[in-house]
Amino acid sequence: METEMKRGFQLYRQGDLYYLQSPLLADCSPVVHAFSTRVGGCSEGAMASLNTAFHTGDEYSCVRENRRRFLEPWGFHPDEVVAAVQVHGVKIYQVCAADRGRGARPQSFLGEGDALVTAVPDLPLTGYAADCLLLFFAAPDVPAVALAHSGWRGTLQNMAPAVVADLRLRFGADPAAMLVALSPGICGRCYTVDRTVAQGFIEAGWRGEPYLWAAPTGRFHLNLAAIIEQQLRHAGIRAGHLAGCNWCTSCHPELFYSYRREKGHTGRMMGLIALRGDLLAGEADKS
Ligand SMILES: [Zn+2]
Repeated sequence: METEMKRGFQLYRQGDLYYLQSPLLADCSPVVHAFSTRVGGCSEGAMASLNTAFHTGDEYSCVRENRRRFLEPWGFHPDEVVAAVQVHGVKIYQVCAADRGRGARPQSFLGEGDALVTAVPDLPLTGYAADCLLLFFAAPDVPAVALAHSGWRGTLQNMAPAVVADLRLRFGADPAAMLVALSPGICGRCYTVDRTVAQGFIEAGWRGEPYLWAAPTGRFHLNLAAIIEQQLRHAGIRAGHLAGCNWCTSCHPELFYSYRREKGHTGRMMGLIALRGDLLAGEADKS
């Protein structure tokens, strides 16, 4: 079994809210995590209905209410949200207690960056995506958690291995103990890129299925999840500690926003990961 990658996120329902969790991470006390869907929110039109990102042009009050609905089951308030301005780079922020709420309002975000790491309990690290993947990391030996955003630019710049290295260097986390789950993201059949983008991946060694292959149109199919999974394996993540991407955001319009499918005018799903302070205390009590 150890050679088999774990199944990825699974869909759950709580009242009107639909969300996803990875059983791999859900089994990891003291980590709390979830990935939102577009179901159960109050936004309308192209943003319908649970858009969680401000930069989409959605109503501020709707985004706040949507975030409230998604965060409530996990015991977090929208005022606590931590987020960076995602720019498809590989900058990683170490989030500290003073950063609580930096991401709760459009003006309060951390600076530009695409990954957050922390060992501080009860800080809700968040990321936003609609086709790009969010990568959920748990380092239970520290404990610490991380959340990264990886589209084609981040993937080509080795975002996933960069987070593994960061958790190791910053906190002494052992990659062999780390758990990683990949959020829903656009699949290789739905996602095509032009020759210039493809060339970058070919030069990085990702030529051929299941990574990159020619489409009849002259464009190229790109399977970001397959590349990220290999990057993580090379970085020392054990196969049994890796939950692959098993949902395509473009193939499931009823559940997910898709930037490509909607030609840019759409909402974003939110990824959440945090260390639960009360569960940390529980762990200490046991020992
Ligand atoms: Zn697809």
